[in-house]
Order: sequence, then C-alpha cells, then structure tokens
Amino acid sequence: MNPTRPGAGWIEVIAGPMFSGKSEELIRLLKRAAIARQRVQVFKPKLDNRYSEADIVSHSQMRIPCELVERTEEILSHLDPRTEVVGIDEAQFFDDTLPGVCGHLANLGKRVIVAGLDMDYRGIPFGPMPTLLAVAEEVHKIHAICTSCGQPAAYTQRLIQSDKLVVVGAAGAYEARCRRCHEPDGAPPTSEPWLIPPGEPVVEEDE
Ligand code: ADP
Ligand code: ZN
Repeated sequence: MNPTRPGAGWIEVIAGPMFSGKSEELIRLLKRAAIARQRVQVFKPKLDNRYSEADIVSHSQMRIPCELVERTEEILSHLDPRTEVVGIDEAQFFDDTLPGVCGHLANLGKRVIVAGLDMDYRGIPFGPMPTLLAVAEEVHKIHAICTSCGQPAAYTQRLIQSDKLVVVGAAGAYEARCRRCHEPDGAPPTSEPWLIPPGEPVVEEDE
C-alpha cells in the first residue's frame, strides 16, 4: 500500500516467527525508501546485541544501520523531524507504549514500518505486537519453513530449557515450526484459548 497524499502517515507491521524473513523484509522496504531519497531512521531495542552494536542483521546477513534504544520514548527523543520513514525491528521487546508512539509518528505524517515476533516460543501473543497488528493500516504476516516437516511455519520452537521468556544470543536455541510440529513446552496448558495442543481437534459440544 502507498498513500497517494504526500505526508500521509501510516503504520505497517511485518509479523511472523523467527526465520520468517521479518528483518529481511524490513531492510528491503527501508532500502527502497532510501533509494527514493526519503529520510529513514531505524530503531531496535538495546537488549538484542546478537550480531552487531548498531545494525539490523538478518539471518541471511542482509544489514542496515540502526539506532539502539533502551526505552520506547527514546524513539521520539531520537527522532529527526525531517525523517519520513521510521523502521522498528524486534518490536515485541518494547513495552505497551509502542503502539501509541507509532500512532503519534503516523499522525505526524511518518510512514512507520514495524517488524516483530507476533508470538513467543509458547505461542502466546508477544508484548505490544497484538495491539500493533490491530491498529496498523497494513499487516504482513509471513511464514518460515518448518524445520521438522517443510510446511509453512508460524511458530517459534525453543530448543533449550530456560525459565526466561527471552533468551537472546544462544545459537541454535530456536527453530521455526508449523502448528503440528510446534511443542509449546512450559506453556500454561489450559488458560489461554489459542493454546490448543497440536493434533487435538476442537469439538463443539451440543447444548
Ligand atoms: P526473521 O527476522 O523473521 O527472524 P530473517 O530476515 O533474519 O528472519 O531471516 C530470514 C532468512 O533466514 C531466510 O531468508 C533464510 O535464508 C534463513 N532461514 C534459516 N532457516 C529458515 C527456515 N526454517 N525457514 C525460512 N528461512 C530460514
Ligand atoms: Zn511441521
């Protein structure tokens, strides 16, 4: 989508599991904006220093420079008023104020492109992502390839044991899985309606 009115702001979200190509797609869109001579600023949260201090790097080694921020409001304090396109990666790690910040940027006329994990390794919607998916003008939900069976994969499988929700930097700690192959270890089994164990059909009881 491209609004035709100059300076019309909007929010687009790129969501999916790990390895689905979110960073690649974000980098592709931001590079095209730069080719179109639009002023671009890119942010990601500071906790993710897996590969580089100040680059967004995809698993396929595409990269683009970015600014690291520790708190969501730093996106606004670091903003150059001339910026036309704002990219945000790893959006799931920001707090609940991120949708409001993105809305503010869009109201200022910026094109806001946000990439993030829509679900954590248990299959539970992740941080501010569900709200962002609701308020965005455009949503790209993309898939990886299930490493177990080759089907499109919407889930992230954690391969190591940890009490922490976020384990960053452990190579081989995660892989992409489809619904059937995903094993949401450690997830509360009954409290969340979207956590139906794989392979168990939902049967509607007659009254
Ligand atoms: P994300 O940001 O969603 O984690 P990246 O953009 O960093 O994804 O990486 C996507 C790239 O990861 C793919 O283009 C491909 O080269 C590589 N890749 C590795 N494992 C998989 C997989 N299981 N499914 C799809 N792509 C994979
Ligand atoms: Zn599978």
